[in-house]
Amino acid sequence: MQDSDPNTPLALIVDDDLTFRTLSRMSLEQEELRVEEVSSGQAAVDFATACMPDIVILDVQMPGMDGFATCQGLRRLPGGDFVPILMMTGLDDVESIAKAYDMGATDFIIKPCHGLILSQRVRYMLRASRTLNALRISASSLAQAQRIAQLGGWEWDFVHDRLEVSDAVCHILGILPASFNHTQSAYLGCVQEGDRDLVAEAMRKAVADGTGFDLDHRVIDTNGTERIVHFQGEVITDDVGRPQRMLGTVQDVTDKRATEAKIYFLANYDGLTHLPNRNLFLHRIAQAICCGMGTNIIGAVLVLSLDRYQRVNDMHGPRSGDQILKEVTGRFQRALSTSTTIAQFAGADSTMLARLGEDQFAALLTNLPTAEDSAKIAKCLLTSLEAPFQIDGTTVMLTASVGIAIPGTDGTEPNLLLRHAVTALQAAQNSGDRSCQYYCNSMNVSIAARITLEQDLRAAMNANQFVLYYQPQVDILSETVIGVEALIRWQHPTRGLISPAEFIPVAEEEDLIIQLSEWVIKNASQQQKTWRNSGLPPFPISINLSSLHFRQRNLISQIRSIVIENGGDPPYLELELTEGVLMTNATTTMTTLKQLKGLGFRLAIDDFGTGYSSLAYLQQFPIDTLKIDRAFVKDIKLGKIDSPIMRAIIGMGRALKLHVVAEGVETRDQLAFLRMQGCAAYQGFLFSRPVPPNHLLPLLQSHLRQPIPKSA
Ligand code: C2E
Ligand code: MG
Ligand code: MG
Repeated sequence: MQDSDPNTPLALIVDDDLTFRTLSRMSLEQEELRVEEVSSGQAAVDFATACMPDIVILDVQMPGMDGFATCQGLRRLPGGDFVPILMMTGLDDVESIAKAYDMGATDFIIKPCHGLILSQRVRYMLRASRTLNALRISASSLAQAQRIAQLGGWEWDFVHDRLEVSDAVCHILGILPASFNHTQSAYLGCVQEGDRDLVAEAMRKAVADGTGFDLDHRVIDTNGTERIVHFQGEVITDDVGRPQRMLGTVQDVTDKRATEAKIYFLANYDGLTHLPNRNLFLHRIAQAICCGMGTNIIGAVLVLSLDRYQRVNDMHGPRSGDQILKEVTGRFQRALSTSTTIAQFAGADSTMLARLGEDQFAALLTNLPTAEDSAKIAKCLLTSLEAPFQIDGTTVMLTASVGIAIPGTDGTEPNLLLRHAVTALQAAQNSGDRSCQYYCNSMNVSIAARITLEQDLRAAMNANQFVLYYQPQVDILSETVIGVEALIRWQHPTRGLISPAEFIPVAEEEDLIIQLSEWVIKNASQQQKTWRNSGLPPFPISINLSSLHFRQRNLISQIRSIVIENGGDPPYLELELTEGVLMTNATTTMTTLKQLKGLGFRLAIDDFGTGYSSLAYLQQFPIDTLKIDRAFVKDIKLGKIDSPIMRAIIGMGRALKLHVVAEGVETRDQLAFLRMQGCAAYQGFLFSRPVPPNHLLPLLQSHLRQPIPKSA
């Protein structure tokens, strides 16, 4: 052996004739092959069992196991399928050549032959074998890759309607390769009936145009489940450009499509309500605008927000909150489908309901007869919330506000339209009547002012910009001061003194009121201590308690500790509550009121007469004082010095043994009337405006009644 490099191809010569073996070896070694020789068939099989050669040169006529049997034996060995076997026959007859091929020979050569011919033949066979091997490896990798990708290939000779498909295609189609009859209609037969025409038409068109196609169709797999298949093909033309056949792939994309659908859903829909989200909503506005909305088609963009949803969520927990949002969705959807007929427009296609965030929904309306019809539909949406919501056995009432922007008039850019609708919504919320507002340009200004106020208010808390003013309460008969009401003022760094009427509602909405309320109680208590220390006799200070603060869970313990820590005296502190507080949830209100009374606080009903509650109803609560709203006192003017309502309220207040205080007394006529009716006390500009403590001190020193009675 010339070369022992294991990469050099190994040839095995099998012949019982030593001379032939030697000659053959010489010519092959010149070709730089490694050569081994054996003299019998059995020895060849034994050799190949231990080490499979790269080529076998095999004599046919040998004693014992002849060449044919040896060839068969070699083929049966592991790795023996593809080894090239060159049979050498001395018999120049067709029969033995045919037999050699039958037994698995790769080629044959007539013996004796020239050494050069033999070596050339071997060289050629080795090269072919290497190419075949490489092809086999790549075919097997391709098959494996296709199996992983659930991909199969096909080729269609459409001239003769012969369709070849790979096993992988059959697997994807849910059929056995043997049962496929190789025509286009056999393939179409595997396609789901509903998709069949689509596939046939795509193939027909590709053939006609000499192009390709690319589509998804459904099939039923061997388990009877529906799969989605991506079917792709391309026309192959001959040298002169005539379409000849079509090549393509079939891929099972069921899982891929499911994932894509999920991703699409997550990107465009809200997971809770399954409504389109902001993204898809904006997209639909853009589409509608392209189709003429805002030019020749009238449309509207509505943004709806549930009032005080956050509070419902806090009280009942997020699960109930979610449940409410789902029910709201259902109600809005029903309202939209019925209101479309009310407004008589094109149909359900013309609307889209979306969820923009937390408690914010949006609706796109197109094909409206008039822009005003959007308000009718908005009204239907609001009305749909009127029926109470049943959540975990309790009843929850919900209202909402709506802002409307009209495409065209209010803009043609989706984001801008949505922003304008939100601005209109904020205006609706701020207007207090919680209804529906169309967008107008001036809104941006007032909304900006409101946003600035909110921001400033938060900063004011930390910057200590609040002060308490005090307004005296005066005994009507003796005209002496019998108490004061603490009224908060905001010393704004640029705007000056801001009235509580302006910022208290904002503080309530932005959840700053509790903090503010605590500050008032703390400061009034400290003021009480200061006055006491200055030698003044004790007198009641009235403090306004916001309903939100009153509903605070730990109200009692919190108020007590603030008052005590800051030197306040509960029997000389009167907490003013509005009728609204007493009207809702009577049982818990009663408990809280009793607890406050238990701590020694006095209790007053503020702004009485505005809440339409009857005095008889209020009688059940442990109230000390009744403050008649300024609006009724205003009624008593010069020349009209009677007010039946005032007479009734004062009369009933007295009968119920309440300390009756009239608010907003500005004239002596009003005072005279109140005195005549037996009203006990008043508060008003007539005696003094609310003033800071240092201005109040001289007034207290000269007009404070002594001693102050403990109860009315
Ligand atoms: P209120 O509790 O009814 O306070 C009486 C309001 O009437 C005060 O307005 C006072 O300045 C005004 N007033 C008194 N006498 C007259 C008069 O003769 N003529 C006129 N035109 N007005 C008079 P103010 O200080 O602007 O407070 C408005 C409301 O803001 C208060 O109404 C009260 O509901 C609320 N508020 C004030 N301070 C606080 C506070 O510390 N906490 C809470 N939660 N609310 C407060
Ligand atoms: Mg008050
Ligand atoms: Mg009042």
